[in-house]
Amino acid sequence: MKENLKDTIIAIATPIGEGAISVIRVSGDMAIVNVARQFEGKSDLTTTRSHTAHFGRIINSQKEIVDEVVCTVFRSPKSFTGEDMVEIGCHGGIHVTRRVMECLLETGMRPAEPGEFTQRAFLNGKIDLSQAEAIADLIKAQSDKAQKTSLNQLQGVLSKQIHMVRDELVQALGLLELELDFTEENIELIDKQKVIDLFKRGISDLSNLLDTYQFGRIWKEGVKVALIGAPNAGKSSLLNALLKENRAIVTDIPGTTRDYIEERMIVDGVLFRLIDTAGLRKTENQIEKEGVLRTWDIVNKADVIVLVHDSTKLLSDEELELLETEQTVNEKKMVIFANNKIDLKNEQQLQKIGPKNGIFLETSALNNTGIDNLKHTLVDNIISKARATDKESTTITNERHYSALLRAKESLSCSLESLLSGESGEFIAQNLRAAIDSIGEIIGVITTEDILNSIFSKFCIGK
Ligand code: GDP
Repeated sequence: MKENLKDTIIAIATPIGEGAISVIRVSGDMAIVNVARQFEGKSDLTTTRSHTAHFGRIINSQKEIVDEVVCTVFRSPKSFTGEDMVEIGCHGGIHVTRRVMECLLETGMRPAEPGEFTQRAFLNGKIDLSQAEAIADLIKAQSDKAQKTSLNQLQGVLSKQIHMVRDELVQALGLLELELDFTEENIELIDKQKVIDLFKRGISDLSNLLDTYQFGRIWKEGVKVALIGAPNAGKSSLLNALLKENRAIVTDIPGTTRDYIEERMIVDGVLFRLIDTAGLRKTENQIEKEGVLRTWDIVNKADVIVLVHDSTKLLSDEELELLETEQTVNEKKMVIFANNKIDLKNEQQLQKIGPKNGIFLETSALNNTGIDNLKHTLVDNIISKARATDKESTTITNERHYSALLRAKESLSCSLESLLSGESGEFIAQNLRAAIDSIGEIIGVITTEDILNSIFSKFCIGK
């Protein structure tokens, strides 16, 4: 974003459409003066106190009334951006909002770029970078869990933790640099054990934070649940039963769900992304082959696998293969075996097909049997797994933060290795500085135009 930060900017902050009100946001040195020029009411906005709301009319250059509005005035530095701001609440129609906007633009203000208000809040020190990102996450949150984790981040819980780890490493760097200044005189000044302890604590703090991403990502993006199984096992029917609505196409002809369908379901505040995959089976049909390949890709990326099995049939080679790989290779993945069509079940066959481990459930998508049980199994398992891993009060939900922490941990581990093997202080300090910089990127102590652009360009206009 190269635009001038001195400009006074304006944008519609509410979604475009018909509603009771729309809010237009103005920020910058000229915000109050410019709005006051087009505003007619009992109060003179230029002399009002901060955090006060004023009823009046917006008047265009032909002295016509454009709309009745309420202007809320915020004076610098006590505003979202830290600058003078006015929020104009006008009537919420597409046309009327645009007319008010046009009228205000006549004063020479500039339309804001996406995320520019939040960027100014960051540049003016009102929030750090992780808090700015939390605003975008909070707006996008689709479940209680996502909302709570982003709100925590917005309130600075993550920032505090990051500052704490960073401060410890800065302290270690101070001790090292002290030694570097004196090396020519061959004075062993530093308390080596103290630096080792600080490094070890830093690595363990970073590891704990990194561990929280496994669930932080899940809370933010949703738990990916892949429904897989042989064609006609009842995957689409089970998906529909879970959603209690008929969205996926249910049919009797095997292999019709060639691509995949994703639906969203919230249980106890947790978002689940249910993915109905193409059936697992050997096929010569090119399109179906593609579908089966894609199924394996979905399986690999899923957090939970629900293997839907037709209880009237024996386990196929593909089902056995899946159970074997998923349960032995990937311990973190939760595998639920849904023995479907139990309304038709044949007791004798059931004996033979129970999986050795994993969770075994009986369902009938047709009669809605076992569906609530399946829902609660999903949510209970995710929550109890998360509790076991969540040692921290802070949760990492953002990939950018995760990768910065990972880099910091690698650099710090290199520093510790060099320190233990008696390498030069300069070498140790260099990696330590890299670790401190990586951590600093999270809260924006270190930023580049690229980082800022990639964060703020994802925001909507008016944020
Ligand atoms: P998919 O290919 O695995 O997605 O299977 P579908 O959901 O399309 O179901 C295939 C057929 O099995 C349809 O005729 C469904 O009505 C039927 N079906 C699905 N679940 C059940 C069940 O629990 N009991 C019975 N009796 N039929 C079922």
